[in-house]
Order: sequence, then C-alpha cells, then structure tokens
Amino acid sequence: MKKIEELNLDGKKVIIRVDYNVPLDENGEIVDDNRIVESLKTIKYCLERNCKLILLSHLGKVKTEDDLKKKSLKVVSERLSELLGMNVKFIPKTRGKEIEDAISNMNEKDIIMLENTRFEDLDGKKESGNDPELGKYWASLGDVFINDAFGTCHRSHASNVGIASNMEEKALGFLIQKEVDNLQLVIDNPKKPFVVILGGAKISDKIETIKNLSLKADYILVGGAMAYTFLKAKGMNVGKSLIDEESLDFAKEMLEKTDKIILPIDSIVSKDMVIDNYEVKETLDSDDIGLDIGPKTIKLFESYIEKSKTLFWNGPMGYYEKEIYQTGTKELCDFISKQDIISVVGGGDTASCVINMGYKDKFTHVSTGGGASLELLEGKELPGISCMGR
Ligand code: AMP
Repeated sequence: MKKIEELNLDGKKVIIRVDYNVPLDENGEIVDDNRIVESLKTIKYCLERNCKLILLSHLGKVKTEDDLKKKSLKVVSERLSELLGMNVKFIPKTRGKEIEDAISNMNEKDIIMLENTRFEDLDGKKESGNDPELGKYWASLGDVFINDAFGTCHRSHASNVGIASNMEEKALGFLIQKEVDNLQLVIDNPKKPFVVILGGAKISDKIETIKNLSLKADYILVGGAMAYTFLKAKGMNVGKSLIDEESLDFAKEMLEKTDKIILPIDSIVSKDMVIDNYEVKETLDSDDIGLDIGPKTIKLFESYIEKSKTLFWNGPMGYYEKEIYQTGTKELCDFISKQDIISVVGGGDTASCVINMGYKDKFTHVSTGGGASLELLEGKELPGISCMGR
C-alpha cells in the first residue's frame, strides 16, 4: 500500500474521500467540526503540491426526499472554507455536467466539494451498495485517489472501494494512517495493565469487540446502559433501565467466562428520563431508570484506571444527551486526562463527549471513526483500507 508521500501529486487532479459526516443540530448547524479539522493535514499537503482537489463525503443516511434538504454538505463546505481561509466551491450535485465543467475550469490549488455522496442512495442505494458505474464515474473525475475517510472504512461503498478499484494511483491519507497507527498501538501490543472502558447502549453491535478485547485487556469497566444488561444477566434488579434484551445470553456467557468485567456498584436513577429529578442508589427499585454511574462507581473505575498503562474507551457512561447525566463521563474524562498513560478513545459518542468537554488534547488519540475503530479492534480487515492495495 502506497503512502501519500510516495505519490507524485504535482499539479494533479486529486479526489479525496473525506469523512465530513459531522453532527448537525436541529437548525442544521455543525455541532462538532473535529472531522473537518482532522482532514486539513492531507488537504494542505495536496495544496502545497499545487493539486486541484475534488472532495467527496457522505453526511448521515439518506432515505427520504426530506433528507435531501437536511443533509446537504453546503454547510460543511462553508466551514472548510473558513478553516482553510480560502474558497471551497460547493457543487450541489453528485454527478453530471455542472461537476464536469467545474473540474475542467479548475486552476491549481482550487477546491471543489460535491454534494453528499449518499444522495445517490435515494435511487437504489447506489453509493452504499457500491454501484460499479458510480465508482467508475467518480474515479473518472480525477488522476489520483486518496482515501482519508476513516469513519467509513468498515463499509464497502462506491466512494471508497468503488473509486479505488477504478484508479491506479492511490494512497491512504494522513488521517487514516494516524488512526491505524494509534489503534494498532492499543490492540497489538498494549502496555500492561490494559484497561478497557465500555459504555453506551447496545451490546449487540460490540459483541466481537468485547470478545476480542477480553482476550487482551486486564480489566473491562462497563458503564452506560450496557452495564444494566450485564447486571440483569447477573440476576440483579435493574428496574426500567434500558437494556439490550437480545444480548442477555451473551452477557451471561461473558460473566461466566471471565472475571475481568467490572460493573457499577451504584447508579444515578430517576423515575422519568425527561424530568430532572434523580437520586443515587446502590439497589434499584422496579420503577427506577439507571441513567449514569454513581459516585462510588466513579471511584471504583478510577482505581483501575490509575493502575493502567494503556486505556481504550468506547461509549458514554450515561444518558449524556442530558447534562445532568454527564457526570460519570466527565469525571472519568478528567481523571484520565491527568494520568500518564496511552489513552485512546473510539469514535462516535465518546469522541464527541471528550471533544465537547475540552479534553481532546489530553488523550493520546481520539478516533474519528466509531464503527471503523471497533472493527479494527476486532482484528477485522477493513474494506476501505484493503481496497487501497497491498
Ligand atoms: P451506543 O450507540 O451503543 O454507543 O450508545 C450511545 C447512547 O447510549 C447514547 O445516546 C447515550 O445517551 C446512551 N446511554 C448511555 N447510557 C445510558 C443509560 N444509562 N440510559 C439510557 N441511555 C444511555
């Protein structure tokens, strides 16, 4: 597999698959621009080599006509323009003459961004289904392909695998390289003790990761709603807490197989997720909903983190969308930030929490890819990486 430094980029038309799948608020404003910021290194490297840049990305899932209004990349192109201090020409199309004309009129160091690649999904899932014609068409727009969208590397789509299979000159960008290096640091040879923190809601998505990490980690600290599935599997009363019913058997099996799993000993509970009325409990009643880890659990988890040399964290410790249930996640963030350890955060919700709370620079690495980082940790080969050659 070629490195970006090995490509001859001078003056070339370079297609970069970036990951601008950024969270938007209800007004369509960008909530967290980390993925845009992280893409700058590859973009600037190409600009220094006088390239003409054609940027492609998806933004969310596109299933209805309404999504075409809500999931346009225009707002992203404006933020990228601000960050680079130069114009990024946005073309509200995914194929056709407007794009082709714009490309033939490009000067060196010009940047154009096409519309959300998943707009192609509305008519027969052409992007997500890796339609061969679409990948070929996008590849025809440039001379070189750089894949720098780590967040979609676990998917085989037209805008990564499709383009790569139609392009001779290609390489991974700096962002993916950094992701792979840091995640491999954790999984291949972690300095011991190696502590994993898992949270969030669903276990079913993470079964293989949990299995793989349980072989490598010394301790797995489980918080978030995920913990209630494990506690229920242990026969404890979890009241009305969110559990992942279909993973109860897996949770039981894991608890029988290993004593590495450390569960909460107290919770912040409420009778209602909407009302801001909560208390700390060690034993839940049948109408309680566990919404965050309690203070004793925070201390317990910190005692393991303190002993660790390598740490991997995926999943918030509570229902963090509501500020009053962010305490567990925030306190652990703060504690980890003061340790002299290798600390890697899987993408998704946890990365957003860490970044929004202002701790990004305190971690060794904060991944931009949720599903992709978990699949890499499962030991799987990611199609978006293997398509770039050997
Ligand atoms: P996941 O997509 O599985 O990583 O889960 C992330 C989601 O889990 C976030 O939306 C959190 O609000 C949610 N979550 C974490 N802990 C809890 C909890 N105790 N009760 C309800 N939702 C939770």
